[in-house]
Amino acid sequence: MRVGQKRATVPAISILGVPHDDNSSFLKGPAEAPPLIRAELNSDAYSVWSETGVDLGGPGQLVDHGDLQFDAASDPWDLIERNVDRIAASGEPLICLGGDHAVTHPILRGVRRHQPNLTILHIDAHPDIYHAYQDNPRSHTSPFARIMEEKLCDRLIQVGLRTINDHHRDQFRRFGVEVIEMRHWRDDLRLDFKTPVYVSLDIDGLDPGYAPGVSHREPGGPSLRQVINLLHSIDQPIVGADIVEYNPRCDLANMTATVAAKLVKEIAGMMVQTAR
Ligand code: MN
Ligand code: MN
Repeated sequence: MRVGQKRATVPAISILGVPHDDNSSFLKGPAEAPPLIRAELNSDAYSVWSETGVDLGGPGQLVDHGDLQFDAASDPWDLIERNVDRIAASGEPLICLGGDHAVTHPILRGVRRHQPNLTILHIDAHPDIYHAYQDNPRSHTSPFARIMEEKLCDRLIQVGLRTINDHHRDQFRRFGVEVIEMRHWRDDLRLDFKTPVYVSLDIDGLDPGYAPGVSHREPGGPSLRQVINLLHSIDQPIVGADIVEYNPRCDLANMTATVAAKLVKEIAGMMVQTAR
């Protein structure tokens, strides 16, 4: 399907696991996340309907492409970009399950080929826009610097931030990033999107009281309810998303996996609804 072509039927939503955490600066573990999120997503304990009334359990509604297999012979960035490009070529939405936040850079390389107009909604405790960190330009603290340098979106809107330093503010000015800091979050927060949207959702953007299974717990964040309400307010097509930084090694009784699976369902439901 070509970009912009009107769809007559409900789009299928692709799921792709990206189990990669080599660029995490502090703890490993997010590479173990995708099968645990999938287990909660497919568990008989939960409804397969989104809150907004989309039946995600219907035949062919969610298409699971499994987990990428990384090996020493190929550059992981090329593997991620190539597979995202292949899946996104259908014109139907894709949700990637991380992995740490570094993987958003090659994912966006693949998505951008099919989306000439794109706004990224980035929900996170951290700006992830360091020029480089620990001499690693691929650090999970730097994906949005690479994304802006390569013009992989037209607008970047960062929401929920609560760890900003002076270098970050220089980077915001340099790249024209729109930032809604957590201290300015309002319950009726609505964003004015003018293009298709890509949602990059770092689980540590949530308050750690709701999602303790992350490498960098940053208190003072939004509730799961506040994040879901923001997702439900999106009124442009959601063409892609990632849910990253879930770290099972830091989780309590799988509760963060359940939260990640809930977010997959609400994003997938909005992908179906905004495509209509
Ligand atoms: Mn973060
Ligand atoms: Mn992040």
